[in-house]
Amino acid sequence: MAPRKKSVKLHRCPTCAMLVKFDDEDFPFCSDRCRKIDLGKWASGVYKISSPILDPEVLEDLGAFSGSREKDYHDD
Ligand SMILES: [Zn+2]
Repeated sequence: MAPRKKSVKLHRCPTCAMLVKFDDEDFPFCSDRCRKIDLGKWASGVYKISSPILDPEVLEDLGAFSGSREKDYHDD
């Protein structure tokens, strides 16, 4: 018996659940768009951690700094 079963295994795109062939160039995604959407999810999570601009402590620091400068100006 020939082990040549015609079983094309299919996989579903993690982003949109569309069927994707194993030999698809964008596997495991159905398209480059879905790949970017999935990567974007991870990237946005990492971005938050490595983005000092959005750190509330930094913003507070900047506010306190400009506030003290204003006081100095008044004192003078
Ligand atoms: Zn997709």
